[in-house]
Parts: sequence; structure tokens; C-alpha cells
Amino acid sequence: MFKVTLFFTLFFSILSFSSNSADLLINKFSSMVEKINSEPWDSYQKLIELEPDFTSASNEQQLWFLLRKSQAENLLYFYDDFTSTVQRALLLITPDSPIELIAHFKFYQGVIFQRKSQYKRAIALFKEAMEAAKQENLNHLYVEVKQEMAYTKSLYENYAISLSDLQETYIEAFALQDDLLVGVINENYGAIYGFMHEYEKSIEYYQKAITIYQRLGYRAHIAEAIYGIASTYRYWKKYDLAIEHFKRYQDVINYTPNNDITFFAFYGLGMTLAEKGDCNEAINIINQALELNGDPDYNAELYKRKAQCLLAKNQVADAQASLNLASDIFNSLPELAGTRWQLEVIKIAADIAYNQGDVDKAYQLSTSYYQQYSKLIKTSYSERLANLRVSLELEQKNIEIAFLQQRSQVQKLEMEKERQLNKNQQYLIFFVVLIVIVGLIVGLIQRKNNKKVYALSITDPLSNLYNRRYIFDFLTSRLDTNTNPRPQLSIVLLDIDNFKEINDKYGHPFGDYVIKKVAEIGQGTLRSEDIMGRVGGEEFLCVLSRIDAVQTLRIAKRLLKNIEQFNFDKVNEDDHNEVNVTVSIGIAHTEYLNDEKFDLVDSATLYNQADQALYHAKYLGKNTVAEYSQIIK
Ligand code: GH3
Ligand code: MG
Ligand code: MG
Repeated sequence: MFKVTLFFTLFFSILSFSSNSADLLINKFSSMVEKINSEPWDSYQKLIELEPDFTSASNEQQLWFLLRKSQAENLLYFYDDFTSTVQRALLLITPDSPIELIAHFKFYQGVIFQRKSQYKRAIALFKEAMEAAKQENLNHLYVEVKQEMAYTKSLYENYAISLSDLQETYIEAFALQDDLLVGVINENYGAIYGFMHEYEKSIEYYQKAITIYQRLGYRAHIAEAIYGIASTYRYWKKYDLAIEHFKRYQDVINYTPNNDITFFAFYGLGMTLAEKGDCNEAINIINQALELNGDPDYNAELYKRKAQCLLAKNQVADAQASLNLASDIFNSLPELAGTRWQLEVIKIAADIAYNQGDVDKAYQLSTSYYQQYSKLIKTSYSERLANLRVSLELEQKNIEIAFLQQRSQVQKLEMEKERQLNKNQQYLIFFVVLIVIVGLIVGLIQRKNNKKVYALSITDPLSNLYNRRYIFDFLTSRLDTNTNPRPQLSIVLLDIDNFKEINDKYGHPFGDYVIKKVAEIGQGTLRSEDIMGRVGGEEFLCVLSRIDAVQTLRIAKRLLKNIEQFNFDKVNEDDHNEVNVTVSIGIAHTEYLNDEKFDLVDSATLYNQADQALYHAKYLGKNTVAEYSQIIK
């Protein structure tokens, strides 16, 4: 089945190539998506080679190329390149561009805004992308954007909505049997549970995601999930496990040659070390991370940790400077106002004030922080949310069970199909063998029949000797050739004497009996290599090979004698006769002809000479032998 599909794919590929190579290029780009997921760096290099000539390529070709390029760049953490590729595509998009492409680029544009912490704008674009995807029935894309939107909502701490949206996409992804999407959604659950301080759950979901990614062989995705696990351990304050996973992450990301990716490794390590209280090493790593130019919200986190470490080391002014940088970033990102990340700035400011001895300011800041933070916690961890979560998890478990059941059902059906296929194959083999056997039997019977038919066609039915046609054919085949010298051969022509009388006197059936007996006596008298045939009513021709005239004469005389001495019993109801039969014999042999007139050696001549000799034998009074060589002397 697979081969047939492959054949048709090839066939239609060739067809479409000959008709339109531009379509082929688009097909190629659109089918590269999985290759990019599993081998992003190789695919990226191949893509660059395939870059269409932008002066001649169609708008659609260019957009497909840019879509795959941006997809690869995203996985390779080439975030700047990703942004510029998406921007290039957005400039090319017209209302006439395929909706599938418009939807994808709106999605990617949303991702860019999400990375810049502009969540509202990101969500607006995701909604547009979903709308477009829905219009074209692009279900996978629709769910992919929807889950990204759900995750984005969690980034400004709207966990309840986020989890509920994510739950919907989880169901949809299962229904679509889209393993990658299920993996990504599990990963996002891991992230959100991490934000919610439900660390065990978070790790559990990340592990689920990794299992799926490993099955698919998608290394970029595996790396992301490992990073998530490391981050969760960090929030969980299991610093050593966190450090171990950040290091594992550094190993896994070698699939991309991008140095910028190290930012995330440094970020994670720096933050963890700072939180662990390993401030000297932490400040060192944080400074390296900051040099790598990460996203602003990540940098804000780094500045906060650095401030805390500097404060611990009593470098109060530096700590304040670092905290100010963090604060500037939060001011530039209004979406983050009121989140726990932003609120932490107030807490650290309070610590600095306290350290500076400004207790009033410290108290004031501290109060403000706890008021806002407890309000935040209340909204995030309301009872409603807890209930919702429990019900969602139950629902999810049910779906997983149903899905597993469905999978085993499918496997069962596939096994049944396989069994049926094997059975059919067995039948087929059985029938082929049967047909071969029947064919062989029919062939054998046919051969046997042919042999029978042939035997019948060369046999005289009365005497059981060779018939006239065969014996003459045989003689011709021996003599009418150009071999030199001519074969040494004699013919003996035998005719029953006064046969008409025998018939008349004893009846036709007795005549037949005499013919049969003469044939038997003839065969018994001749040598085994000689052959005898019945050439007329009571006339027989014997062909004797490799024999001279003297020997021939001797055999002929013995024939004569054997027949003469044989008693042909005629038994009737009332009388019993012993009938004696005689024959006359004419002989001709090639020996004489070879000496005399070589040209005359052919079957007709030789037969004619034997006939003349036979005539001569009758003339001499029958029951005698005459040789042609003698009568012409
Ligand atoms: P000759 O000694 O000169 O050979 O005389 P003949 O009587 O043997 O020869 P002729 O040619 O006069 O007669 C041959 C007879 O053989 C005539 C025919 O009726 C008989 N005959 C031919 N074929 C058969 C046969 O198959 N069965 C029987 N019973 N008779 C046959
Ligand atoms: Mg005759
Ligand atoms: Mg006769």
C-alpha cells in the first residue's frame, strides 16, 4: 500500500513538475514542516539554498519560503532573524495572499509581541490568526494559536482563564490526534503550574511533554521542556536539581549553532545561583547573561537578582542602580504592572531602604508590597480557581483514558486487518500452488496423450508394425541426406504369396490373422536395431542398418524359412486345418549402389529396386529371395 502511495506521489510530482515547477517549489516548502521540527539546523541550511529569486518568484512562493524560514529561526532561537523574516513577510502580504499564509504570519507576529511582553497586542493578533484559520478549516493551526494565546494569558497571571482555555485546546488537540500540539500543551501546563507554585504537577507535565517530543524526535522542543523543568526546580528552591537541569539544557541545545541561546542557560543559572545565595558566582553569570542581550522582561529579572546579591554584599549603591534598571524596564512594559515580578521591585526597594537605615521608607514600601501581593494572591488563588482546576484535571484524565481506549481500539482493528491480510495472502499462495499443480498435471496428461497420438499416428493398427508413412519417412531420413559415404543399409521387401487365395479359402478374418502372425515372425527374426513396417495389404518393408549384402541375404532366408515352417492354425467349430503360408522377398542394398552409381542412392530408387527383386522372386516361383544386384547381372 505504501509503495502504491509512493508511486502515485512520485507520479503526480513528476506531472506537476512538468506542468508547473513553481507549484512544486510551494509544495516542497509546505511539506518541510516536520523536517524542520526534527532537524532545524539542517533544514535551515537547505532552505537558504532554496531561497527563490525574489525578482521573479511569485508572491505565494516568497511567502511560503519566509514561513518555513521563520519557523526554523524560531526553533533555532534566531529571534532577531525570526522577527525580521516575519516583518519581511508582513510587507509582502496582500489581501489576495492565501489565507493560510496570512493566518500563520499573524500568529508569528503575535509571538513577537508576546516576547516583547506586549501581551494585549499579542492576543489581538492571535485572535485574528484564529479567525483566519477557522475560515479555512485549518484546525491544527487554529488549536496551535489558541494554546499559545492561553499560555500568553498566564504570563500576566490570568491563570484561571489560561487553564480553562488550555483545557479546551487539550481536548481539541487530542481529537485532532496531533501529538506535537498535545506535547506543547503539556509543556504549557508545566509552565503555568510552575507559575502557580504547584511544582510537582509542573514537573509531571513537563515530563509528559518530553516523552512525546522524544517519540517525535523534536530536539528543539525537548530542550525547551528541559529548560522548563530547570526553572520549576528553581522556583521550588531545589537549586541543585535546577542547576543540574540548566546544565543538561546547555548540552541539549547543541542542535543549534546560535550563541544567543546561551542567554537562557546563563539566565537560568545566574538566577538560580543568586537565589541559592551563591552571590559571587551569580553576579558573574548574571553579568554574562546581561551582555547577551536577552528579552527585556528577562533582563529585569536579572537586574533584580543582581540587586539582591549586591545588597547581600553590602554594595548598596550598586544594588540601587541595578534595581533602577529593573524598574525602568517594568515602566516600559505596562502589561507587567501589578504582576508579582513587578511587585518584587518594591520589595527589594524596601530591603535597600532598610539596609540604608531608612526604616520609615522601608516600612512604607514593605506595606505597599504586601498589600498588593496579597491582593494578587487572592485573585490568583481563589476558591473558584481551585475548584476549576480539580474539575479540569478530572476531565483531562477522562479524555486521556478515552484516547488510550481509542488507540487500543485502532490497534486492535489494525491487527485484525493485518490478520485478514495474512489470511488472504495464504489463500493466494494456496491458489497459486494449486494452479501450478493442476497445470503440471494437465501438462503431463497432455504429454502422455501427445505421445499416444504420435504412437497411433505411426502404427499400423492390424499388424502393430510401423505404418507405410513412417517407414518411408524413416528410409528417407536415412538416405536422402548429403552424408558421404552413404550409410550402409539394406531393405527387404516381403509379400505373402497367394494371399488372395488364403482370403478366399479361409475367410478375411483368417487373412488378417496371417498378416498379424507374419508381422510377429518378421519382428522375431530381425535384429533389434532393424525396423519393419506394413506398406500394403500383405506387403512388408524391413530396413536393416549397417549390414552387408551377405548378412542381409542370410536374414532374408531365415525369414522365409521361419514363415514357411510356421503352422497357421485354422480352428473352426467342425474342422481344423494347418495352413502353410509362404512369402517372396526382394532385397536391395546401398553397398552395391555405392560401388556402381553413387547418385542413385535415394529412398525411392532403393525401394523400386527391392520391388523389382520381389517381382523377380515371384517370377522364380515364389517362396524365394531375390537380390536386385543379382537379377541385373
Ligand atoms: P501373389 O502371390 O502374386 O502376391 O498373389 P496374391 O494373391 O498374394 O496377390 P494379389 O495382389 O492378387 O492379392 C492380394 C489380396 O490381399 C487382395 C486383397 O483382397 C487382400 N488383402 C489386402 N489387404 C488385406 C487385409 O488387410 N486383410 C485381408 N484379409 N486381406 C487383404
Ligand atoms: Mg501383394
Ligand atoms: Mg501376394
